[in-house]
Amino acid sequence: MDFDLTQEQRQILEYGDLVAQKFDRKYWMDCADKHVFPEALYQQVADDGFVGTMVPEEYGGAGQGMVEMHLFLEGLSNNGIPLLNLVVGAAMSLGFIAKYGSEAQKQRYLPDACKGKTRFCFAITEPDAGTNTIRTATMATRRGNRFALNGQKTFITDADGADHALVVARTTPHGETAKKTDGFTLFVVDMKAKGLQKQYIPVSIPAPETQWQLFFDDVDLGPEDIVGEIDKGFGILFKSLNPERILVGSICCGLGRYALNRAVDYVKERKVFNNVPIGAYQGLQHPLASARTDVEMASLMTLKAAWFFDEGGEAGEFANMAKLAAADAGIKAVDTAVQCHGGNGFTREYGIFDIYPFVRLLKTAPLNREMILNYIGEHVMGLPRSY
Ligand SMILES: Cc1cc2nc3c(=O)[nH]c(=O)nc-3n(C[C@H](O)[C@H](O)[C@H](O)COP(=O)(O)OP(=O)(O)OC[C@H]3O[C@@H](n4cnc5c(N)ncnc54)[C@H](O)[C@@H]3O)c2cc1C
Repeated sequence: MDFDLTQEQRQILEYGDLVAQKFDRKYWMDCADKHVFPEALYQQVADDGFVGTMVPEEYGGAGQGMVEMHLFLEGLSNNGIPLLNLVVGAAMSLGFIAKYGSEAQKQRYLPDACKGKTRFCFAITEPDAGTNTIRTATMATRRGNRFALNGQKTFITDADGADHALVVARTTPHGETAKKTDGFTLFVVDMKAKGLQKQYIPVSIPAPETQWQLFFDDVDLGPEDIVGEIDKGFGILFKSLNPERILVGSICCGLGRYALNRAVDYVKERKVFNNVPIGAYQGLQHPLASARTDVEMASLMTLKAAWFFDEGGEAGEFANMAKLAAADAGIKAVDTAVQCHGGNGFTREYGIFDIYPFVRLLKTAPLNREMILNYIGEHVMGLPRSY
């Protein structure tokens, strides 16, 4: 057994330190304040080959796995620059097409996306169905050999900047399938398609990517837009949600570390009693040490989940545990960092409290803490289902 990273993996983890010399937290926050996508950072990351981390080399990617994607995102987040599009677009959508798309889809979408010329968003959540994906009502109805897409999605990250959306729709209505998980199909939808409208959702989270509702009114789709098999999308979809959970873990661990590093720098300097730095007080030192331990434990579980995924194992158990542990650890780390900064923890100048909404979001999305615990209770521990 070997816990050490290879030299290449270490470089991937440290890439965030390098890119942050040019595009730092301040740049990311400026973009967040203006609600503009950090194009220059994204292009740099694409030019350096990271948008296509999980895409095979023949389609313009780096041909690497979840471990590398995790290290890359954790490294960026260690520097306070988490890019949500790299989860919903680069990993979820591109990784998905690379794995389950047709040859024509791979040729058509992957090379441009890896170069940063085009972006994807991922659309599963609906206002009424919420966490219960089975209640998905967005319907792609057959019209000859084509489909008409009707329905609504909500909280779709980066939908205004994305060129394409990977959309989860029903092709057979709820209640008309042999199995309740049948009847789902995944489509690539052109974001400029006739009949697609967007509505901005203001949220109280500093992030450059914005949130949107999507409305589909008879959007025309063809067989060439289907990813995977008709009516059988659920199985592959759920396998693909593990990467999302793992990468949310990577971001939470990175942001937790970023907040703690900032706090450590602060408490080493700040003196309020007897010319002793406040970092010497165990009232601050122990919470910092405890938060750091939680972050490192969560990071280890995230790495394990990523490794297991790459090995082709059923990664659900570890991916869910990683997401659970990392979201809690990230929140605790940021809260501790705020406390260490006293009043300055709440100022825009120090920017510590600004990290909180982002890590807090990741306790609720992409899958809320309770559903993660339900998964662990039912699928790992064999407890009865309650809902
Ligand atoms: C900023 C942001 C970005 C997002 N980006 C995307 C995106 O790009 N694409 C996308 O498709 N979606 C996206 N989402 C949607 C997100 O995944 C959902 O908001 C989330 O999954 C929760 O669904 P919901 O809001 O409908 O909550 P609901 O389903 O209404 O649940 C509300 C609460 O009830 C509790 N709960 C629900 N069911 C159970 C249960 N069975 N047992 C115990 N407790 C339960 C949980 O505490 C949950 O938080 C985003 C959301 C936000 C806020």
